[in-house]
Amino acid sequence: MQIEKNKVATIEYTLKNNDGEVLDTSEGNEPMVYIHGIGNLIPGLEEVLEGKGQDDETQVSIPPEKAYGVPNPELVQVVERNVFQGVDDLQVGMQFQAQGDDGTQVIWITDIEGDNVTIDGNHPLAGETLNFDVKVVDVRDASTEELEHGHVHGPGGHHHE
Ligand code: ZN
Repeated sequence: MQIEKNKVATIEYTLKNNDGEVLDTSEGNEPMVYIHGIGNLIPGLEEVLEGKGQDDETQVSIPPEKAYGVPNPELVQVVERNVFQGVDDLQVGMQFQAQGDDGTQVIWITDIEGDNVTIDGNHPLAGETLNFDVKVVDVRDASTEELEHGHVHGPGGHHHE
């Protein structure tokens, strides 16, 4: 069976930046399980996995445009510390969810100087070229329920109470 839209694929992967630093890996963890073709993965990775089958291995270098995008300077803002009322120990690197025009947006604190807090709504990997080593472990059909929910159930997937 090959990976195509609405198949559930299980993959092992290692992600490195252009300096060869490992940013993320499934090694030592569970492999990643996802539904193909519905935007669960970044576009560049879905593209290269399309048509692959069990035990296929591939290496791919994905430009920012097909990964997490190019950083948008408009998403960087300086706000006053009192915006974060109720947060006791505000620190660089903290992540918050904000309600924006396009739904929920994740923002990061990238700098704090006195009462000025710099927030960044870009993905931390925006602007990075992502180098993946990927191995396909399994491919199967998605169930109707999985397609309705838009995520995988069972091992490596979503568990409902
Ligand atoms: Zn579900």
